[in-house]
Amino acid sequence: MKIGILGAGQLARMLALAGHPLGLETVCFTELAMVPAACCAKLVVGRFDDQSALQHFAQQVDVITFENENIDVNVVEFLSGYCPVYPTSAALALTQDRLLEKQLLQQLEIPVGRCCAIHSLAELEKNSAAFNHDAILKTRRFGYDGKGQWRIRSLDDLAKIKSADLQEPLILEEFIPFDEEVSMIAVRSLQGQIKFYPLTKNVHHQGILKISVAPANSPLENLARDYMARLLTHFNYVGVLAIEFFCKGEQLLANEIAPRVHNSGHWTQNGAVTSQFENHMRAMAQLPLGETTLLAKTAMFNCIGSEPLMTDVLQIPYTHYHHYGKEARALRKLAHINLTYQDDQQFERGYQQLIDLLA
Ligand code: AMP
Repeated sequence: MKIGILGAGQLARMLALAGHPLGLETVCFTELAMVPAACCAKLVVGRFDDQSALQHFAQQVDVITFENENIDVNVVEFLSGYCPVYPTSAALALTQDRLLEKQLLQQLEIPVGRCCAIHSLAELEKNSAAFNHDAILKTRRFGYDGKGQWRIRSLDDLAKIKSADLQEPLILEEFIPFDEEVSMIAVRSLQGQIKFYPLTKNVHHQGILKISVAPANSPLENLARDYMARLLTHFNYVGVLAIEFFCKGEQLLANEIAPRVHNSGHWTQNGAVTSQFENHMRAMAQLPLGETTLLAKTAMFNCIGSEPLMTDVLQIPYTHYHHYGKEARALRKLAHINLTYQDDQQFERGYQQLIDLLA
């Protein structure tokens, strides 16, 4: 069976690698030929606005998925005329717009922080004041890894926002003084079977995920599962879905939904019975889903902007290196390292050694 992926970055690479033992072939549609998935997938190189290239791609595969939500919904709808695309364009369209996403979450009675659409400086001033000038202004579309965001800590910070920035559709969110951030990752099959991974605790730095640890051992786990099930059912979803949450006391506030395999689920490659990548591929191929239970507590460290020496990492017991084959560039995710738990001493020592190596 052939699985088509829109995009050919590290997520596509890890999906393709997970498909190999199952005999699943991967074909990636990409605008560039030098891409992380080139080592393990066939590429169709073309532009996303070239319908004949897209058609050529769709005719080679049995099902199509994507690794990135910043894809033109029209492309997904066009491809759906040739073969099934999962997740569907409805889920994609909604997760592309932070405001629509928050509105859907509210409709499904999944709590979110206070937020509002911003169209002008006057609206920004008024709503920022309502949030005591403790807020984050974000572009509604095409933001990722903290890009397209302005942290507002005082009235003075509003002066730093240029009028050109206000031309884009924006959302203002109150700043949530959270206790911790967690994410719920789950997979749903075409037949409606759902499997949840253990809740994962996440640490971000400057809007970019730095470290994930699973399991989060949170009393909010069942609530997170309940919210996830509502979303999966609402979309009649197929594949892996991620929800990022802020935890504040007894409250779980949804921040963002990602209709794809997620960085905070990379630990599953070494810490869960079936990785998120394999389960997404199984869902695409309509194979039975694999168990999502924990094999071992696992910490995942992102290598951002530069990579440590692999030999330095791998001499730390119970580490696994996942290299993406990308050129180093500031703020770019280049690899991740998973550290699995054997005993307290080994885990704490390995954790500290990795923090030092990545500092
Ligand atoms: P996002 O791009 O929305 O996923 O934001 C990236 C990171 O910025 C989050 O994981 C948080 O660490 C932080 N952040 C975003 N929005 C808020 C908020 N409303 N309150 C507090 N922190 C936030």
